[in-house]
Amino acid sequence: MNHHAPAHCAISRCGRPLREEESHRAACSLCEHRIRGWLTELPHQMPLLAASLERDGGGPAIGGTSGRAVAPVPLRLDVLNLLGPAASSTVHDPHADQTGPVPILAILGDWADHLATDRGQAPPAHRTVESCTGYLAAHLPYALARGWIAELHAELGELVNRIRGITRTEPRRRSLPAPCPGTDCRTFGLVEIDWADYIECTVCGRLLTRAEYDDHAAAVLPPLHRLAILIAANTPEKRP
Ligand SMILES: [Zn+2]
Ligand SMILES: [Zn+2]
Repeated sequence: MNHHAPAHCAISRCGRPLREEESHRAACSLCEHRIRGWLTELPHQMPLLAASLERDGGGPAIGGTSGRAVAPVPLRLDVLNLLGPAASSTVHDPHADQTGPVPILAILGDWADHLATDRGQAPPAHRTVESCTGYLAAHLPYALARGWIAELHAELGELVNRIRGITRTEPRRRSLPAPCPGTDCRTFGLVEIDWADYIECTVCGRLLTRAEYDDHAAAVLPPLHRLAILIAANTPEKRP
């Protein structure tokens, strides 16, 4: 590897130049942040997904008093497929054989297996959404240095988007009052997103811990507030 060639994040939709401290990685820290957020979100989405099985059915309610046999509540097959048992990992081309979306556990379990094999370790003993997302999160620093991180990113992103589309639940984003501390940014682009470890700038991609943001906000917000009060006090409407 030529040390002078600027390396870029392997995730095609990103492609940011990797900073010096990221030079051992294939994907940048913002993409890592995104993947970690998805891995934390997935277990939270599972009960919502299960609850979505019948939601759009519109069939007769169970326990109706008509006296006729109760019609089965229609279940969403796409949701059933997603919640279905993991396909055997010996199936190398599950996408071709499936009639619906690949089960969540098949995707997560196959990636956990892939990672474990790559590291020469044992995969999680039991394939659950929690164990597989936990395993992937724990070994993410290793995965981030591998070229296949782009595929993992793409498959997880697609999976999360499909689930969000069904549950109609997305992590909430809250805009924060302090401007981005990046000297080349300074925009009001900082957001806090549910289940994310860091506050991020939607403009420049900078990541901040909560403590870093709080320190920064404590330094910049009081002068900004004073300025706002001065402006308000000097507007024409304020004249007696
Ligand atoms: Zn990236
Ligand atoms: Zn910024």
